[in-house]
Amino acid sequence: MSKRIYLSPPHMCGEEQKYIERAFKSNWIAPVGPAITEFENKLAQYNAIDHCVAVSSGTAAIHLALITLGVGKGDEVICSSFTFSGSCNPIMYQSATPVFIDSEPESWNMDPTLLEQAIQDRIRLGKKPKAIIVVHLFGMPANMDKIMPIAKQHEIPVIEDAAEALGSIYNGRKAGTIGDIGIFSFNGNKIITTSGGGAMVSFCKEWIDRARFLSSQSRTPAPYYLHEEVGYNYQLSNICASIGLGQMHVLEERIKTRRANFCTYKNKLGEEQFSFQLEAENSVSNRWLTTVLIKSNFEHKVGEVLTQLETKNIEGRRLWKPMHVQPIFKNAPAYVNGVSESLFLKGLCLPSGSNLTEEEIGFIVDNIRSKM
Ligand SMILES: *Cc1c(COP(=O)(O)O)cnc(C)c1O
Repeated sequence: MSKRIYLSPPHMCGEEQKYIERAFKSNWIAPVGPAITEFENKLAQYNAIDHCVAVSSGTAAIHLALITLGVGKGDEVICSSFTFSGSCNPIMYQSATPVFIDSEPESWNMDPTLLEQAIQDRIRLGKKPKAIIVVHLFGMPANMDKIMPIAKQHEIPVIEDAAEALGSIYNGRKAGTIGDIGIFSFNGNKIITTSGGGAMVSFCKEWIDRARFLSSQSRTPAPYYLHEEVGYNYQLSNICASIGLGQMHVLEERIKTRRANFCTYKNKLGEEQFSFQLEAENSVSNRWLTTVLIKSNFEHKVGEVLTQLETKNIEGRRLWKPMHVQPIFKNAPAYVNGVSESLFLKGLCLPSGSNLTEEEIGFIVDNIRSKM
């Protein structure tokens, strides 16, 4: 096979073009336009949440969530360590300090015991964290039954980074709607895409109104341009929202396909040499990416498998390198247990696109096996 197999490429369904054409015909290229509100309403409805603002990226959504919650200079914000840097860069934009929490072995997401420990420790050191950013990594819901009561007890708001977890379910509720604020990403590699985009959702209207205000240069209503605070140009464009409207038609289908990819990989690879991210009883992951851990001799094998895949023009990746071992965050406080560092050493992400064929999965598996 000569065509490159990507990790998670965009997958259009055809409807997008119609919505884009509609935008062109009506000349809503502005970048504002009616498709934005329509997309926001569709997202809110899908997630069974009251309020939604569409923005230019998931990172922008997290940034706005932090500002909305009043995070500023010198504040501390707790964040999952095992994640993509987009989760915590916005903490730095606010001149605040990230406090990283390691993973629990079950979900690979934020460890509730370490969270409790960290909050008590930060309070003891004189600073109560201003917010908690919990990531649902690779689409797998975090242990919210344990995390939310801890956050509530200490009265610290929770931002769910559901950038990878649109459509995942926890206790019958959509990921991103369990905490105080949820964020999604529609980057090209996510389960659906607007080519680039994001959203912030909440049951609190004031917060979404505030984020919307900040996202459009903080223009105070007046007969002229009046600005009383710093604003951002974080709006999603009408064209991107149009792509999103098309993609919403196939979101459920995309989740089914990604979950089927996971099952095919798991069946073909088996559990003798590999282990997989486990879905808890009360969780349904959208299986955005299929990830595997290599059980033995992973120090050599992860690298060898990735090299083998690359020679066959297949894009594989290591799991996210934890934030607390990233050079940029080396001075940030971290509460660790070794879990995320171990996952990083043992794991790899496999091509997981919804346009992947069963034949391609077979080809990928054969190449993985050839190095085991
Ligand atoms: C993709 C991603 C983001 C950032 O989203 P962008 O739309 O790329 O800015 C944040 N957090 C996680 C966990 C992500 O995977």
